Amino acid sequence: MKIDNRYARLDPRLFHKQPPEPLSNPIAGHFNAALAEQLDWQFTEAQDWVPILAGQVVPEGFDPLAMAYAGHQFGQWAGQLGDGRGLLLAQIIDKKGQLQDLHLKGVGLTPYSRMGDGRAVLRSVIREYLAGHALNSLGIASSNALGFVSSSTPVQREKLERGACLLRVADSHVRLGHFEWINKFAPDALPDFTTAMIESYFPECQNAESPILAFAQVVIAKTAKTIADWQLVGFAHGVMNTDNLSITGSTLDFGPYGFMERFEPTWINNHSDHSGRYVYQNQPSIAHWNLWVWLGQLLPLNAVDPLVNKESLSAVLSTFEPEFLHHYTLGMSQKMGLNDEQKGVLELSSDFLRILERNRLDLTNSFRSLSDDSDQGWRLLRLECISIEEMEKFDTFAAQYQNLVNESGLTALERQTMMDGANPIYVLRNHIAQTAIERAEAGDFSEVTRIFDLLATPFTRQIEHETAADIAPLPDNHPPVSVSCSS
Ligand code: AMP
Ligand code: MG
Repeated sequence: MKIDNRYARLDPRLFHKQPPEPLSNPIAGHFNAALAEQLDWQFTEAQDWVPILAGQVVPEGFDPLAMAYAGHQFGQWAGQLGDGRGLLLAQIIDKKGQLQDLHLKGVGLTPYSRMGDGRAVLRSVIREYLAGHALNSLGIASSNALGFVSSSTPVQREKLERGACLLRVADSHVRLGHFEWINKFAPDALPDFTTAMIESYFPECQNAESPILAFAQVVIAKTAKTIADWQLVGFAHGVMNTDNLSITGSTLDFGPYGFMERFEPTWINNHSDHSGRYVYQNQPSIAHWNLWVWLGQLLPLNAVDPLVNKESLSAVLSTFEPEFLHHYTLGMSQKMGLNDEQKGVLELSSDFLRILERNRLDLTNSFRSLSDDSDQGWRLLRLECISIEEMEKFDTFAAQYQNLVNESGLTALERQTMMDGANPIYVLRNHIAQTAIERAEAGDFSEVTRIFDLLATPFTRQIEHETAADIAPLPDNHPPVSVSCSS
């Protein structure tokens, strides 16, 4: 393992170095062997990795620290936040030459814990573990995790729960909110910090006329791509505060997230979000708002680079929407098996989504069925429509879709291959994660393993490993699994 603790060499005001506070009687939850291989992580036996993930052992060369950051939460300035229950253990260069952060979450109090207890509970650790894996397997930029442990350390939430730790792996833990913290609490550190971020994460920007503007541009583009990817699979992050968005565009901080089942644009899995700020359909505009806040943080850099000013930063921000639409249109064309240069793809996909919405149809399954042009395929969705009127609307859609398919110039095989690589069969439905959590809380991690394996190849049917619940939305009259910010 090649260690390169760059963050620990930055301005010491930006973090607090400290060791983890260990969990008691840790037991192995799950270990991501494929990720370990990519990282060249040598502690692959449970007897070696469990004590590390429990905070009992800090390997040589690791230099644990809690990062300071700030942020806007639910649209309001929230002041200093920071790693309140996690530590950046080390940074390493993986086998692909990519810098990766190893961050242990659930390791006790830090100077940034505020009112919290510094711990994470098993259910939230499993949710984060499976979500990072699910998104990575779908090809969506996201943190992942090397593994997790459970323990006998009691943690008080609504009820007493088990303390757990997750070893999170991400290409960066630098959040938009880091820049907010620096401007508020150490403004003189901003130029050096920005230079260090460009050097570490976007070295290609160093040669631009204005490296800072080039950096801003990449962050906008990366975020736009990730949000487009979320929208395409129905992922709702749930807490898109500026402290939860990474500068690399990788999905970070899974709390009350969810994968949508029946299509509902105003869907939110976060029952703490009473105003619905972070509902699925708001995600692109919220990302835009967060990036606007972030670009404002770069304004003082005008002192070191006169090309950075209100006008140039606004121009950078204005690229967000076209970037988002570009990726969304491309992705939607693939999901529908159409040519992205064809006219009318977005309009037609929007008609399709409205049909799903009005008829309470499952997003994942409905899109997957579109690649089956046989009599047993997507036309059967007609039978799931709730009224004659809706069936007629479906017929109109079907005729238009058929026309676009004919016009696309793609062969049936090309179409199917493209669609089956863009429309997953398996997503992490809330009730699936919930079942795995309940079993794990009783000491049985086999369901976590089964789901982990299933989600590793979400585009490939695995009849022998799937259960009926894996591919069906919860019945409409069933109360949804309730998830809030408390984790
Ligand atoms: P989140 O909503 O999980 O992104 O967390 C927002 C802020 O609260 C971050 O600064 C976290 O580190 C902090 N935080 C969340 N839960 C805890 C906890 N149990 N103990 C200490 N800090 C926490
Ligand atoms: Mg957070």
